[in-house]
Amino acid sequence: MNQNNTNYLKEKYKKIYDKHFFGFSIDNGWFKIIDELLEKIQSYNIKIIDIKEKFGGLRVYTTPYDEEAQEIINYYESLSYDTCERCGNVGESRPTGWIRTLCDRCYASKYFQYKSCYKYWNTRYVICG
Ligand SMILES: [Zn+2]
Repeated sequence: MNQNNTNYLKEKYKKIYDKHFFGFSIDNGWFKIIDELLEKIQSYNIKIIDIKEKFGGLRVYTTPYDEEAQEIINYYESLSYDTCERCGNVGESRPTGWIRTLCDRCYASKYFQYKSCYKYWNTRYVICG
């Protein structure tokens, strides 16, 4: 996720991130999903440990476990399977070496060949595969 989106989410939900949270290991197309999800779960007594992509889907890990919050998280994770991780348009799972959820256009652009997730947190950023 780019620096602007990262900073926006960092400021807006200041108290929700665990001290070990390292940043968003996902691309910008899922920004809106994350924003809405954090909005809905911020009132629960939980902290975000990790937000990443796995097998083409969004994964959000929290502590401690809260059943009600987890149901909300499950719903937003399910939305990611129909949402292009790059641009946010309607997407689907693509078998690209590792599975990515992309729209037709991003898939055709061979976007999946690039390492796409950038973690901006504190002052460092890391490119992850
Ligand atoms: Zn796309």
